[in-house]
Amino acid sequence: MSPVLHISSDMNRNVVIHILESNELHAKTKFGQNFLCNEEIIKRIIEVSGVGPDSVCLEIGPGIGALTEPLSDLCSKLTAVEIDKELFSYLEKSLGDKVALYLSDYLKLKKDDYVEEPFDHILSNIPYYVMTGIMKKLMVDCGNAERMTFMVEDEAIARIICEPSTKQYGPLAVLVGVYGSAKREFTVPSDCFYPMPHTTSAVITLSRIDRGFEISDDFCSFVEAAFSKRRKTLSNSLSAYLSTVSVKMPLKEALKTIGLEENIRAEVLKPLDFVELYKLLLI
Ligand code: SAM
Repeated sequence: MSPVLHISSDMNRNVVIHILESNELHAKTKFGQNFLCNEEIIKRIIEVSGVGPDSVCLEIGPGIGALTEPLSDLCSKLTAVEIDKELFSYLEKSLGDKVALYLSDYLKLKKDDYVEEPFDHILSNIPYYVMTGIMKKLMVDCGNAERMTFMVEDEAIARIICEPSTKQYGPLAVLVGVYGSAKREFTVPSDCFYPMPHTTSAVITLSRIDRGFEISDDFCSFVEAAFSKRRKTLSNSLSAYLSTVSVKMPLKEALKTIGLEENIRAEVLKPLDFVELYKLLLI
C-alpha cells in the first residue's frame, strides 16, 4: 500500500479522489459514504456549529476527515466514531493522536465506553438509513450538548423540523423539540460530495434549551409507543406500553391534569406535552 496521504486543508473533488486512490480506499454504499469535497461548505458547517477553542466535540462518521481535520485544529478535544475499519485505519494514520478515534457502529457503542467527559458540540454528516437511530442515541447519550449540527437529506428535514398535527410529525420531531430549537441552515447541492448522492442535502443545527429534563431511552420508548397507532387515540396507542410499566396515575387523569382531552391523538401533543405526561405517569 502506498504511504498515507495527509488530509488536505483544501478538500476538493480531486483531493478526495486522490486520497481514496492512493490509500486503496473506495466509497461504500452500504455505509452511506459520500465524502464532502467542497471547502466552502466545510467552512460554513464549522461556522454554524459554533465550535470554538474550548469546545469538546464528537463527530459521528468522520469518513476521510473532511470535517475532522479542521475541527481537530480548532477545538479543545475531538472524539470521532467510524464504522468502516478501512477508513478508521486511514484516519488513525493521518490524524495521529489529535483525535480520540473509535472503530464502531455508533448505535452499538455504550455511552460509558466513549463519553469520557460531556461533549458540548456534536457534528455528523449522517447517512439517511441510520439518521433516526443516530439522532435519538445522541439525544439520550449527549443530551447536554449545547449544539448538534447535522448534514441530512433535504427531504428528511420535514420529519425533523415540523409542527404537531402535520403528516410528518412523529417521535423524531418530538425528541428534537424537547432537546431544543431546530434550524435549517443551508442547502448543500449533490456536487459537493464524492461520489455524488442522488438527493440534495442540507445542514441543520439543533440548539439545546435547558428544560430540566433528560431525554432517556425510556422516554423515547414512551414517545414511540404514543405514535404506534397514528389513527387511534393516545390512550389506545399507549395501552400496551402502559401495561408493562408501573404508572403513578391513570392516563385519563394525567391528561386532564395538563388540560388535554381524553380522546386526543398523539400527533396533536406538543413536544413538551409529552414531557409533562411522562413526568406525571412515570417519574
Ligand atoms: N464526514 C464525512 C464527510 O462529510 O465527508 C463522511 C460522511 S459519509 C456521508 C458518512 C460516514 O458515516 C461514513 O464515513 C460512514 O462510514 C460512516 N457511518 C455510517 N454509518 C455509521 C455508523 N452506524 N456508525 C459510525 N459511522 C457510520
